[in-house]
This record gives sequence, structure tokens and C-alpha cells, in this order.
Amino acid sequence: MFSVAVDGPSGAGKSSVCQAAAKELGFVYVDTGALYRTIALYVLEKGLDPADPQAVEEALPGIQVDLAYTPEGQKMSLNGQDVTGRIRTPEVSMATSAIAAIPAVRAYLLGLQRGLAKQNCVLMDGRDIGTVVLPEAPLKVYLTASPEERARRRTRQLEGSGQPADYKQVLEDIRQRDYQDSHRATAPLKPAPDAVMLDTSEMGFQQSVEALVSLVRKKM
Ligand code: C5P
Repeated sequence: MFSVAVDGPSGAGKSSVCQAAAKELGFVYVDTGALYRTIALYVLEKGLDPADPQAVEEALPGIQVDLAYTPEGQKMSLNGQDVTGRIRTPEVSMATSAIAAIPAVRAYLLGLQRGLAKQNCVLMDGRDIGTVVLPEAPLKVYLTASPEERARRRTRQLEGSGQPADYKQVLEDIRQRDYQDSHRATAPLKPAPDAVMLDTSEMGFQQSVEALVSLVRKKM
């Protein structure tokens, strides 16, 4: 099985670029952020504080996270219920960044992620895929873009899905999540030493996909 680890900050376009690249390569695209988001949704729905490590850790045995691959992409289920459409709100995004800093949450999701890479050729996107989850991956890519460009893209994406979006607020959230994700003690966001840097600030979508596909093909 061939694994590609793709890490990078929020809103860099990792999911859409990886999804398209995986389709072209015939790989399974694994969106690991969705796993953390599903746990955050549970925590919010139970009225727990996402920043309280003890409360979140105690909740973990009651959480069953499953994924399924369909022609429309990766579907997430939480305790048997499809939650795919409910994990993308700004509220869930912020809570996700908090619960993702908790070591027990990361440990809980590690086996699931590694199992997927054992069974499939994967393009796996996240924050610590090259550094922690798949450190032996033959190709690691750090996909990024400037905070301003990421905020512009995220604003358009939210507006496109009918959600209210204010550029300044989105930029502020992105900066806060970048800070939280890169300063946490466990599995902080950072490029693996041998990661290839792919900065898409000046690239269009198709160009970014082609750049990633070509990196993979060179390594296979
Ligand atoms: O990629 P996405 O924006 O959906 O990720 C949501 C949050 O989940 C990130 O801000 C990060 O805190 C967390 N995350 C993580 N490790 C991963 C994937 C996501 O900590 N592998």
C-alpha cells in the first residue's frame, strides 16, 4: 500500500485538493479532520466543555466514530447516526481545535487512521500525518497558503454553502486555530523534516491538484 501524508493549516484547501488528487490517482482520500470534528460535535451536543481534558476523556468510551466511502465522498457517523452535514460549522471548528489538543483524543483516533492506511492506498490529510500517524509514508507534503488567502477561500466556501461568513471573523478564527494547532504539546502542526512544501497562495485549484498528483507520480 502506498501512503501520502498531507499536512497543513486550516483552510489551505487540503481537503478539496486531496479529494481531487486521490480521484485522479485511484487512492482513498482520508479526511482526518472529520474524525476530530465528529468527536467535537458529540462533546458540544452533550454540553461538555471542549477545553476540559478530563470531561472529554471520560466521554470517549461513549463515542463510536465510523467512516464510510461513498461516491459523494467520506461519510461520518457518530454512534450510528450520519453527521456528515453537521460537522462543518464554525462552532464545531473551534471546538475541534480544542478537543484535538487532548492526548487521549489523539490516541483514540490513531489506530483507526493507521488501519485505513494499511488497507488502502491513501492520501491522508491532517495536521500530524507525516509526523505522528504515518511517519514512514514514502511521500509527505506540507500544503499551505497565506492566512489571508485561506480566509478568502474559507469565506467563499461558507457563503457557497449558505452559511453567513464575515471575512474578518474568518481570518481571526484561522489565526487562532493556527496558533492553537501549532502550539499544542501533543502532535503540534508542523512540517515533517522530509516534507515537500507546497504553497498554493498563488495557485488555482486545478494547478494545486496537478502539483500534488505530479509529486505522487514521481514517487510511485
Ligand atoms: O482539517 P480540518 O479543518 O477539518 O480540522 C479541524 C481541526 O481538527 C483542526 O483545526 C485541528 O485542530 C484538528 N486536527 C488535528 N489533527 C488532524 C486533523 C485535524 O488536530 N490530523
